[in-house]
Amino acid sequence: MGMLVMQRQENGHVDDEAVERYSLGDSSEEESARLEEHLFVCAACRRRLTEHEAYNRAMQTAAARIRAREAPQSWWLPPRWAGALAAAALAVVIVLAGVRHWMSRPLAPPLSVHLTTMRGATAATAPAGHRMVLQPDLSALPPLPSYRLEMVDRMGKRVWEGAAGAVVPPMAPGVYFIRLHSPQGKLLREYGLEVKK
Ligand SMILES: [Zn+2]
Repeated sequence: MGMLVMQRQENGHVDDEAVERYSLGDSSEEESARLEEHLFVCAACRRRLTEHEAYNRAMQTAAARIRAREAPQSWWLPPRWAGALAAAALAVVIVLAGVRHWMSRPLAPPLSVHLTTMRGATAATAPAGHRMVLQPDLSALPPLPSYRLEMVDRMGKRVWEGAAGAVVPPMAPGVYFIRLHSPQGKLLREYGLEVKK
C-alpha cells in the first residue's frame, strides 16, 4: 500500500478529492501527513490546495452572508411595522407619564367661602387659583331640599353652575355674582364675591 501511494503521488500528484478533504480538514492524520509531504516539494499541488481553500472560504463567507440576511427577516418585523409599533409604545409611555404626573399633583382641599347677601357693605373675598365650596347665607329662606348656584362674572356671563356644596374650580381674579336658585329655577338671592390675586 505504501508503494502504491508513493507511485501515485509521483505520477499524478495528489488527487482532487484528497485536496478537497484536506482543505476542509476532513483528511485522516495519515493522509494529511502524506499530502503535506508532497505539498512540500510540489508547487502545482500547493497552488491547487490554495485554490481549494480560497473557494471554501468564499463559500463560507457567502453562506454566512445569506444566513445573516435571512435570519433577521424570519423573526424581525419589517421596519415599517417595527417603526409604527415603536411609535405606539412611545405614545403609551407619554400618556402614562402624563397620568402619573396628573395623579401625583397635590390637590389642595377647596376653600370654604361664606357668602353674605348683597345688603352687606362688603362682598365675600376668596383668593384666586383655589378651588372653592360656596356657603351661601340661607337665613330667612324657606327650607328647600336643594339649591342651585349660578356664578356669573362682572359682565353677567355665566362662569360656573352647580349644586350648593359642589366644588367650584379656581377662578381668575375679579368680581363675581353668585345667584341662588330654587330647584325649580326661581332666583332667591344674589351674593357678591371678589376673587383676589
Ligand atoms: Zn503534486
